[in-house]
Amino acid sequence: MATLERRELGNTGFKLSCVGFGASPLGKVFGDVSHEDALAAVRLALQSGINFFDTSPLASLSPSLKKGAAFISYPCRISPFFARFYGGTLSETVLGNCLSELKVPREEFIVSTKCGRYKDGFDFSAQRVTRSIDESLARLKLDYVDILHCHDIEFGSLDQIVNETIPALQKIKESGKARFIGITGLPLGIFTYVLDRVPPGSVDVVLSYCHYGINDSTLVDLLPYLKSKGVGVITASPLAMGLLTDVGPPEWHPAPSELKALRFIPKPGSPPLLVMHTSRSADRFIQHPYYKLNPSFIGTSLSLAAHCKEKGKNISKIALQYSLMNKEIATVLVGMNSSKQVEENLAAAVELSSLGIDEDLLHEVEAVLQPVKNLTWPSGIQQK
Ligand code: NAD
Repeated sequence: MATLERRELGNTGFKLSCVGFGASPLGKVFGDVSHEDALAAVRLALQSGINFFDTSPLASLSPSLKKGAAFISYPCRISPFFARFYGGTLSETVLGNCLSELKVPREEFIVSTKCGRYKDGFDFSAQRVTRSIDESLARLKLDYVDILHCHDIEFGSLDQIVNETIPALQKIKESGKARFIGITGLPLGIFTYVLDRVPPGSVDVVLSYCHYGINDSTLVDLLPYLKSKGVGVITASPLAMGLLTDVGPPEWHPAPSELKALRFIPKPGSPPLLVMHTSRSADRFIQHPYYKLNPSFIGTSLSLAAHCKEKGKNISKIALQYSLMNKEIATVLVGMNSSKQVEENLAAAVELSSLGIDEDLLHEVEAVLQPVKNLTWPSGIQQK
């Protein structure tokens, strides 16, 4: 079997497999997963050279919102039943059980988890994140994690992150419970805000999601800055959290319907997909054009995934390959819940390194996605 490429993660000394195992599906975020399926997926991943696993204390979505939140992403879009049923800390528990059952030597895998975002809301206080790492380690059945991320920091006060949370994480690092510190979130401006204000070297890694994929590649502009700061870059959600799959996005997906419509391409004679409106400010970090879905379009269209399938191609494969092409990004986290998905994603990566990307399909898919290119959604609270 061809080997999976490994790439350096900033100044951490880690060499991560270019495909990373996103463990949120193990928390049943995208549907039910049996223990056998989870175990088989993790086993195959490890056997095939995937050495990086990402999880969090909140793999699922919570309807509870911190008071004062002006812009909220996915929590408001799910039913309370869904949140109750799938909520909580399952991803860490399932991943921990799999790793311990497989008895893999600790130095052979790299694990990141997060703190600050929980089933009952956000809490970036020093006290809570200090307690959180112990809870995570117990669920993961580990003595330390390799990376501890501050999770979705746009939902907290960024000044608190700078002045209280990061210093608390430094103490956790000194205690040996985490080897490196990261920050995650959706709006890209949060990263520069924090990195410009913390002492050099106190944040080792950035995890950005839904901003380096075939439909949204805005992270590319930030890469030189992150490199200048010596920060390693992890990207996540190359399949746009299910948008770029045959099955399509889960019910809670935060994208506006205008963006979800990117799954559709017109059949001959269809009306236009989207009607473009004037710019609007989504939050203080992002400005994007405002597209309105043309209601008469749906029903007269074919999904992009189905279109690729008709041609014997796979939308998820080309989407993942697109994200993998940029070598400034150490690893691309894909959410996986079965050995079939692990197999497919590994094959996509190996094929990319041996044969390159299918340029014809890429151009076709990019052309279809052009009207919604870099369209995102608001996430977090408005901050001055
Ligand atoms: P993703 O884009 O990786 O999509 C995951 C979905 O695609 C799941 O439904 C999965 O079952 C499906 N899938 C995977 N491989 C497939 C294949 N070959 N064919 C068809 N479908 C396939 O989105 P994600 O899971 O949200 O992101 C990946 C990981 O990144 C997460 O699991 C998590 O670890 C991390 N992440 C972190 C943050 C954060 O820190 N704020 C946010 C998003 C994601």
